[in-house]
Amino acid sequence: MERKVYAIGDVGGTKTLLLLVDGDRQVLWRQRLRTPAGSPPEVVVETIDEALSQGQREIGLDRRHLAGVGIGIAALLDFDEGVIYESPNLHWHEPIPFRRMMQECFPCPVYIDNDANAAVLGEATYGAAQGHRYAAYITISTGIGGGLYLDGKVYRGSRGFAGEIGHIKRFGKGRRCGCGGEDCLEAWASGEAMARSARELWDESDPSIGPLNTAVVFDLAAAGNPLARFIIERAIEDIGTSLANLVTLLNLSCLVIGGGVAQNRSDFIAQLRDIINRAAIAPSVKVTRVEVVPARLGAEAGAWGMFAMMQASEC
Ligand SMILES: [Zn+2]
Repeated sequence: MERKVYAIGDVGGTKTLLLLVDGDRQVLWRQRLRTPAGSPPEVVVETIDEALSQGQREIGLDRRHLAGVGIGIAALLDFDEGVIYESPNLHWHEPIPFRRMMQECFPCPVYIDNDANAAVLGEATYGAAQGHRYAAYITISTGIGGGLYLDGKVYRGSRGFAGEIGHIKRFGKGRRCGCGGEDCLEAWASGEAMARSARELWDESDPSIGPLNTAVVFDLAAAGNPLARFIIERAIEDIGTSLANLVTLLNLSCLVIGGGVAQNRSDFIAQLRDIINRAAIAPSVKVTRVEVVPARLGAEAGAWGMFAMMQASEC
């Protein structure tokens, strides 16, 4: 019997990850590429199509033998329709029949889901939230994304837009968010938001300062700069309070923290844990033992979530 091969991937605002894997989770081919930033969806679909064609050639696979394609994407989308309604990070603000566009390139079933929904499924199935039936995945990177896993299933809400913790309000004053709203959590506490706060304080064009990004803000804070410390501490407080509210609301037993900002910063997660324990309603953290843990599947969580989804649907 011919073995099944699946194409899985994750399309973020800046990076795209694509893998070809077999039914036993063996990785046959893997590629990281830049998401064609600010490009229309046709270009993103074409980029995925071309990269996967290249991968298939490299492993000697005929496209007809692909069993399924599953892509997690940084967008608010209706899972059943396969239509994207909004993507702050890809700068798409009109409805896009993304799954249909992908389906035109592939003769096998195509699945698309919000990247954080895919990631929570990946982490619950193979990663840091294994064994939990009530979990959330929060990614803190350029933006802030969230995926909910309730009663052993991805929770998408009535039309697929649930879990958008990055866009809850009201944090700070007068800062526009990529979603079109104002003063979302993401606009004040994401990695890019911390860099933006630094740019409002210091002049990047001063050669003694240079380009300000998230890593520079953390370096400055580590060197004892009080303003950089303040920027980070305020972001942690805002994220921690939001997560505490999530725990109070949903009585979760596991919070998986992903994304570049928390990666390799164990104190960042420890501080979030302290705030959650302090701010969530007592039984939700004293009777329930809430695990606040780093993501285990890293940047591949979403891709493996799409794999789990396709396995469950037996395609
Ligand atoms: Zn927003």
